[in-house]
Amino acid sequence: MFCPFCRHPDSRVVDSRTSDDGTSIRRRRQCPNCGRRFSTTETASLAVIKRNGVLEPFSREKIISGVRKACQGRPVTDGDLAVLAQKVEEAVRASGASQIDANEVGLAILPPLRELDEVAYLRYASVYQAFESLDDFEESIRQLREEHAGAARREADASATGAEQASSSSAGRGVGE
Ligand SMILES: [Zn+2]
Repeated sequence: MFCPFCRHPDSRVVDSRTSDDGTSIRRRRQCPNCGRRFSTTETASLAVIKRNGVLEPFSREKIISGVRKACQGRPVTDGDLAVLAQKVEEAVRASGASQIDANEVGLAILPPLRELDEVAYLRYASVYQAFESLDDFEESIRQLREEHAGAARREADASATGAEQASSSSAGRGVGE
């Protein structure tokens, strides 16, 4: 960047320091032309494009305040919400884009919220995905139930396989003895 004092197009870095939270680097620079010093801050930019087209910096706080209401009365702690916000940020940063649609941020909230608390998930999804009727709730609940059934089947299969192995190995021992 140009020197802010004399507009010289080059500068020398005299000091670099990473911020305490590790999300930015502050550099002290010196202009080789006029000798004056100035600072720059480098961050991995991530902006959210709101529905009205306005850009605002991604904020974990905004994620948490958006989800907190759906978690009212549920066994969800501030620590849980902080972890959720971190997961959402990791998911949206993983896309590599420096700007992301508010809509995509909303979508990125759904999977970690479902893992955290299914009731809060349903509440949030009902507002976010604009559920219009009981059918929408029914459909979402059906999906959750199917996944529960799938998980239960996998568990049952795993324990059945485990039992078979246990019985065959004890049978094996029996033969050997
Ligand atoms: Zn200068």
